[in-house]
Amino acid sequence: IKLRITNIDVPIMVGPAFEGETIRKGDTYVEFGGGRTTAFELVKMVGPDEIEDGKITVHGPEIDEIEEGSKLPLGIKIKIYGRKMHQDFESVLERRVHYFINYGEGLWHVAQRDLCWLRISKDAKAKGFKIRHFGELLIAKFKSEYPALVDRVEVELYTDEKLVNEQIKEARGIYVKRDERLKGLTDESVEELYSCTLCQSFAPNHVCVVAPERVGLCGAVSWLDAKASYEITPTGPNRPIKKEGAIDEVKGIWKSVNDFVYNNSNHMLEEVSLYTLMENPMTSCGCFEAIIAMMPEVNGVMITSREHGGITPCGMSFSTLAGTVGGGTQSPGFMGIGRRYILSRKFLKADGGMARIVWMPKELKDYLREEFIKRSIEEGLGEDFINKIADESIGTSAEEIVPFLEEKGHPAMKMTPLF
Ligand code: SF4
Ligand code: ZN
Repeated sequence: IKLRITNIDVPIMVGPAFEGETIRKGDTYVEFGGGRTTAFELVKMVGPDEIEDGKITVHGPEIDEIEEGSKLPLGIKIKIYGRKMHQDFESVLERRVHYFINYGEGLWHVAQRDLCWLRISKDAKAKGFKIRHFGELLIAKFKSEYPALVDRVEVELYTDEKLVNEQIKEARGIYVKRDERLKGLTDESVEELYSCTLCQSFAPNHVCVVAPERVGLCGAVSWLDAKASYEITPTGPNRPIKKEGAIDEVKGIWKSVNDFVYNNSNHMLEEVSLYTLMENPMTSCGCFEAIIAMMPEVNGVMITSREHGGITPCGMSFSTLAGTVGGGTQSPGFMGIGRRYILSRKFLKADGGMARIVWMPKELKDYLREEFIKRSIEEGLGEDFINKIADESIGTSAEEIVPFLEEKGHPAMKMTPLF
């Protein structure tokens, strides 16, 4: 017998009403992750003997042992046992952490995996909210929202730096494995794409179209995840979209996709193309890991990432760009993406592919390096291509990077005009 928990034992209010709440720095008691400290979140399926249902452990300092304004590392490890649980479902449930935590009044969560960023407000702290309450909230939510799947839940919270650094290794290993399972799949090899409308709670017209070769822009919903999510909840945020009625295979436009998007965007979007930035690109909610922006001056595009705070050659920083691009609208020439989409064979395919990239922050280059080099060789751009792409050490304006691109013989300079 499983109890359906409706009362959550936390000293704050919990509900979708608080989802859009932001917590400013000045109202923050403690924050975790977001590039300031190491943090991760992981849902891991375990056997019936490896779990104690309902148990919550905080390994490291609790909130009352730290000062106001502190930054702490954080590891959230959620162990789940269920007879119907499947490994493919781990990442689907993991993505829900974002929503469940944001339901808490005075709690704030962005991004995912080892990029997550959380805040607890001074108000929540004053009401008695403790780090262990993340566990209470998550256990209650997972049990109440996935009763058919989840029989037992245990949460381990790590706030000790050494332990977080240890535990994050396991998490990263699992992220890599998940990404690898996708590798054999192409958009052509499947009959269905999947929608994701999870972000409509704050971007009401936003629809992600998730394909084998294009992860959702949050980086946390792959085609396999969307498929698994549909198996778990057929009426949920991920639905299959049959690829039917090809309108333009190069730009990636299908009638069925257009119909789906139209019917699920409050009739705001009429057409979406999967493989170009320049014409009806996919909408962007606010969760994107990176943003592509066109640079007509150099006939290419630049990409900046959430981790890079600095100004970029399009004249804007990530956060300013995010304000322009986000909210669920289409802005030709600009688009939010998951970082791994840069490695996809379908990356801006109709626009000339990765050869268009003229600028990326160093951090993003380093994050992608190994696979990026493999992909550039595959594209005939040579293993040296990554070194032809400018970064913040070369310049942060078009004028500053043009001489570099010319000197390196960057391929975008000789490509057909972007528009
Ligand atoms: Fe789904 Fe897209 Fe939101 Fe990710 S960003 S949760 S794929 S709607
Ligand atoms: Zn989103």
